[in-house]
Amino acid sequence: MAAPGENLRINSDRLWDSIMEMAKIGPGVAGGNNRQTLTDADGEGRQLFKRWCEAAGLEMGLDEMGTMFARREGTEPDLPPVYVGSHLDTQPTGGKYDGVLGVLGGLEIVRSLNELGIKTKHPIVVTNWTNEEGARFAPAMMASGVFAGVLDQADVYEHVDKDGKKFGEELERIGWKGSEKVGERKIHAFFELHIEQGPILEDEGIDIGVVTHGQGLKWLQVTLTGKEAHTGSTPMPKRRNAGLGMARVIELVHEIAMDYQPDAVGAVGHMEVYPNSRNIIAGRTMFTIDIRSPEKEVLDAMDGRIREGIDTICEALDIQYQIDQVGHFDPVTFDPGCVKAVRDAAERLGYTHRNIVSGAGHDACWINRVAPTAMVMCPCVDGLSHNEAEEITKEWAAAGADVLFHAVVETAVIVG
Ligand SMILES: [Zn+2]
Repeated sequence: MAAPGENLRINSDRLWDSIMEMAKIGPGVAGGNNRQTLTDADGEGRQLFKRWCEAAGLEMGLDEMGTMFARREGTEPDLPPVYVGSHLDTQPTGGKYDGVLGVLGGLEIVRSLNELGIKTKHPIVVTNWTNEEGARFAPAMMASGVFAGVLDQADVYEHVDKDGKKFGEELERIGWKGSEKVGERKIHAFFELHIEQGPILEDEGIDIGVVTHGQGLKWLQVTLTGKEAHTGSTPMPKRRNAGLGMARVIELVHEIAMDYQPDAVGAVGHMEVYPNSRNIIAGRTMFTIDIRSPEKEVLDAMDGRIREGIDTICEALDIQYQIDQVGHFDPVTFDPGCVKAVRDAAERLGYTHRNIVSGAGHDACWINRVAPTAMVMCPCVDGLSHNEAEEITKEWAAAGADVLFHAVVETAVIVG
């Protein structure tokens, strides 16, 4: 198939203006956005997106999870469409670009194709996945998870927010529950453009991240039990110090992650100490371990070494331990063909690029289970995201959308 010409570009002003227009809906308190899923603001954002899609001649589909599918017909309508998109919902103190860039980048592709009079064999569908953030209703990547058969629709309908409101009822209330069964669509390929949410691309001055893998993760919750005792009168050899145990495990987790550089990470985030008093040796500690790697073997090896290490540490300190796995996500290997389309596009367009691993979860990680999928990343200032101060430049957005454009139209096959 013929590759698109290198002068084929999206309209960067139009893309930027659309992002800024969307950012007016559900403004945050510090220049970002609070457009959490299934709020009135989410409904308003959806309405605006729908209006834009219809103006671009797209036909809007809506499934029972509220995911929006805006279709540009192909010259061979029976072929499975190429999907492109991300999410319009935000964190409570979210930025203007996380998710939005991917959805409106998809819309911009279609607008550009229309303007240039370009037809593709495969239809192109611009998608807004419901509840990617998981801030109001856990878990994250909810609709794409149901689509991929990882989450159960009836179950997530019952999930409640902090006010006790149910996901299923809120979806109906804002008027965006569709009738289409979830997960029945055939997907030829899915491409998601997203800001990096990390510092690598900006630090290295690189335009495009070609996402080859998504980090897998394990969350362990550890409880250490020693004995509460007086910090002044208990002889050192007699102490059963759960606080000391926790400190040694924190060090252990760090060291193990350092053994699997550059891609593995590990840290203890949440820590609780009982009774948390200045003159009592901690009798019990509870903390969480978060380890991530793009390779399953590495993730399993880290997990094994941590468990072994905890056993050794606790034996030496005469304390008990309990380890519960409370979260798990297998590493993602994106489709080599789709990844190549992204890399070739960056090359053809003259953008600097490097392979990158996604440290965060994305809808693409779930869709990769049911269809060939890849992601494009662009830099963000200081790697900052899930923060109202999240920032990117118009040039970064344009480069990302150009690469997305080429990868999508090459996969959807230009006619003529
Ligand atoms: Zn996102």
